[in-house]
Amino acid sequence: MVSSSVDVSLLEIIKSYGDDGQCLRFLEDRRWPNGPVCPRCKAKKVYRLKAVDKFECSSCRYQFSATSGTIFHKSYIPLSKWFLAIYLMFATASRVRAVELSRNLNLPYKTAWYLRRRIETAMKTGQLSMLESLWKQSD
Ligand SMILES: [Zn+2]
Repeated sequence: MVSSSVDVSLLEIIKSYGDDGQCLRFLEDRRWPNGPVCPRCKAKKVYRLKAVDKFECSSCRYQFSATSGTIFHKSYIPLSKWFLAIYLMFATASRVRAVELSRNLNLPYKTAWYLRRRIETAMKTGQLSMLESLWKQSD
């Protein structure tokens, strides 16, 4: 496991990404630095649907959020737990075991095992690069 340089503390992670809304805003900023774009038809005219915390495309009516098409897509595991798990897996030099994730994140063992596996795969394929600023301070 690659242990990248981590210069953000666990406390900061909890403070900044402790709730799912904060995590979603972070993903939106990373994914669409110039404003949201419809993943289906690439239209830039989209509306925020506040009630469901999603966007709707004005041309094709597709509803999407920053998690669409990512490892977080349609996951029943809260985003804040994903973020914490990713942080723990990057911050720890030794391999984080599923049992530790289960205990730290208050998740059933099977869920923690699945989570760890998904994150490991995503790390290998570079899917998590957009989250790098989670644990690396930008200047
Ligand atoms: Zn569209």
